[in-house]
Amino acid sequence: MRRGNLIIISGPSGAGKGTLVERLVARVPGVWVSVSATTRSPRPGETDGDDYVFLSETEFVRRIEAGEFLEWATVHNNRYGTLRSTVESMIAEGRQVILEIDPQGAAQVKALMPEAVLVFILAPSMEELEKRIRRRGAETDEQVAVRLATAVRELELVGTYDYVVENDDVLRATDELAEILESLGGKDIPDGHQA
Ligand code: 5GP
Repeated sequence: MRRGNLIIISGPSGAGKGTLVERLVARVPGVWVSVSATTRSPRPGETDGDDYVFLSETEFVRRIEAGEFLEWATVHNNRYGTLRSTVESMIAEGRQVILEIDPQGAAQVKALMPEAVLVFILAPSMEELEKRIRRRGAETDEQVAVRLATAVRELELVGTYDYVVENDDVLRATDELAEILESLGGKDIPDGHQA
């Protein structure tokens, strides 16, 4: 039995993390993407339990207090968190587990699980990033400004990541991510430590 890897993907809103992860799942066998919980409202087309587990502020706080989160953070004025239960069992089952989370959450997970691999997705430029966020049409001008300010802060943390992938072209960037995953392989669990 081999344990899977934990791969954390971060990057500014609009860098295209979601699209790249979707393509990776379609291409690399054994990849499993964690569904986060959030207090932000669903965007048109998003479904509860699929894109996110959408929670009220009260319910999110209850789950923090119950110790249900592996990590959580406030991003763009909303709370986001990774639910502990499935992540741990999927790694034990040998899956390549992907968390699409912000750098605050990435640092929390890396402290708990130093074997986690950190990948930062970059957009080609700030102008392109703003264009992509606006094209999505889900945010007000004020929300776009908050996301761009967060992007500037997040970019300062690029140096703490193991890999940086520029999403200049979706096909090329997906290839690069797939190569990173394939290079990780699985980790043998010594006899006597199998679940
Ligand atoms: P969005 O609102 O665009 O779906 O996500 C906004 C930001 O929240 C993204 O940077 C995303 O990586 C981050 N995020 C999503 N889920 C989680 C999570 O479970 N934990 C943390 N720390 N950040 C998350």
